[in-house]
Amino acid sequence: MDPAPPTSARRALFLDRDGTIIPDKHYLADPAGVELLPGVAAALGRARELGYALFLFTNQSGVARGYFTLDDVHRCNVRMEELIGLPAPLFTDICIATEGPDDPPLYRKPSPRFILESIARHGLDPQHCWMVGDREGDIDAGLNAKIHAVAVCTGKHDAAGWAAAGRPGVPVFPSLVEFVASLG
Ligand SMILES: [Mg+2]
Repeated sequence: MDPAPPTSARRALFLDRDGTIIPDKHYLADPAGVELLPGVAAALGRARELGYALFLFTNQSGVARGYFTLDDVHRCNVRMEELIGLPAPLFTDICIATEGPDDPPLYRKPSPRFILESIARHGLDPQHCWMVGDREGDIDAGLNAKIHAVAVCTGKHDAAGWAAAGRPGVPVFPSLVEFVASLG
């Protein structure tokens, strides 16, 4: 008889890319420019050990702006996964929101649409889901989806910046590494 699935199977982390997993190089289009922030590969491995499904949720308005193509984004993501080096598939699903800030929002954060669709599709428990990111739009996407949100200081804001950003009650961690360590 097969063992029962782990009770943690409905947990998930929704992860921003630029400024959270890799340095934010602003409109990164070349896979050769992809590098990992320190410790994230081990942290993502630990999150999976803890039973968290991983989702990548990235705004890439550079596509709408004509700076690069969706294929460029895919190639950068492939390079990032190579560098992380964990068994595939690393991510249960990936959302690349290509619209610009002035376009009608489809999936662009702070829209919660991708998170809400993923919760429904994969039977996730919102009480055990987190949106992790370096910008207000990440935090607001998580809050709009009524999951937990956590801010990291590896991108747009340092701790003082987050204190001024007006997201009271949202935990702030130095990086994704310390956040994952706090999970267990
Ligand atoms: Mg970011």
